[in-house]
Amino acid sequence: MKKKIAMQVPIVEMDGDEMTRIIWRYIKEELIYPFVDLKTEYYDLGLPYRDKTADQVTKDAAYAAIKYGVAVKCATITPNAQRMEEYHLKEMYSSPNATIRGIMDGTVFRAPILVKGIEPYVRCWEKPITIARHAFGDIYKAAEMKIPAEAKAELVISDRQGNEQRKEICQYNQNGGILLGMFNTMDSIRSFAKSCFNYALSTEQDLWFSAKDTISKQYDHTFKDIFQEIYDHDFKEKFEKMGISYFYTLIDDAVARVIRSKGGFVWALKNYDGDVMSDMLATAFGSLAMMTSVLVSPDGKYEFEAAHGTVTRHYYKHLKGEETSTNSIATIFAWSGALKKRGQMDQNQELIAFADHLEQATINTVEDGVMTKDLALLSTLKNKTIVNTHEFIMQVNKRLVNYQ
Ligand code: NAP
Ligand code: MG
Repeated sequence: MKKKIAMQVPIVEMDGDEMTRIIWRYIKEELIYPFVDLKTEYYDLGLPYRDKTADQVTKDAAYAAIKYGVAVKCATITPNAQRMEEYHLKEMYSSPNATIRGIMDGTVFRAPILVKGIEPYVRCWEKPITIARHAFGDIYKAAEMKIPAEAKAELVISDRQGNEQRKEICQYNQNGGILLGMFNTMDSIRSFAKSCFNYALSTEQDLWFSAKDTISKQYDHTFKDIFQEIYDHDFKEKFEKMGISYFYTLIDDAVARVIRSKGGFVWALKNYDGDVMSDMLATAFGSLAMMTSVLVSPDGKYEFEAAHGTVTRHYYKHLKGEETSTNSIATIFAWSGALKKRGQMDQNQELIAFADHLEQATINTVEDGVMTKDLALLSTLKNKTIVNTHEFIMQVNKRLVNYQ
């Protein structure tokens, strides 16, 4: 066997929970250690250790991602009441992804992995569509109220000098109603726009942005204006040089165009639109288990992960000693994405080539008809062999060895 590939700078490794934690170890042991002299700075984001450190480990991991520039993350449990009991937690910690996103000030890009035999529901889609979701503010950080009968709701803004601006929202009738106050900040929208333009450049894809500026003449229109201003000022030349384009269109129009498109572009969306559209696209492309996710900060720091969760149901089967057939592809691609980005940053051609081979070996395995149960249910290939969680990874290893 060839000498192992050397790395100059470590990748920040964020371990996680349940079935994906099991997969994590298999991937490292079977697909990375044999080929790469892997350097990582390890952070255990598994729930027991998060609890032990009162969640400090999550923050430390995020700062390390900023320091080194490339991280790879395993899926983690977001605690809820049931998990509080199950893990005897001291506190209901917030979602690690939200914590990391907050610290890195990043935008999440989700892209499907395409393989032959698993055809998108939309027949004209030939290439992946990447969704960029603005993961800050809007209804996710809103103030909400139930409003009693005949009350009046107003927007009141007080500035630093104590001046007030008021605007009536609604005069409710005898049956009352509901109210939502949501916000965003110029800084966050600017970071979002920059991350999107940078990501489009780094993946050589067109960028679309869509919102509802015709109805929301201040709120959504501000998003549109900021995107345009940053594009004209900082990116227009770079885009033209690369032969890619930016364009804004109303979200209704975008939805219609996306369905008729061939794919192969980045679609930037506000927080709620991105939340909904990314799940729609994941299903339309085949499966959530084939969706990759990367968090990109405005100054180009990357955190790679699978879009799915910890696959709890499979983990409980695994604990009972039953066989599982969990799809590891999105987690493998999180690793290959991180290794490739590290390789690009360090001009490490061998590492880039290895990451490409790892992806190709994974796709070839499925295209050879060897797949986990979730894919077998979707695949149109005639001859299929369903394998268990570990066997799938070993099948990828077998093909990967051939490249070395
Ligand atoms: P999930 O782990 O994504 O799993 C939902 C279901 O989707 C699974 O039960 C399974 O269906 C299918 N599935 C997802 N990934 C799969 C894979 N790789 N291979 C095969 N099937 C797969 O979502 P969840 O059950 O809602 O959440 C479980 C835990 O994950 C929660 O504690 C949640 O907080 C956490 N979570 C973490 C992240 C993250 O870290 N980024 C994201 C989402 C959720 P079948 O059971 O039908 O086989
Ligand atoms: Mg969603």
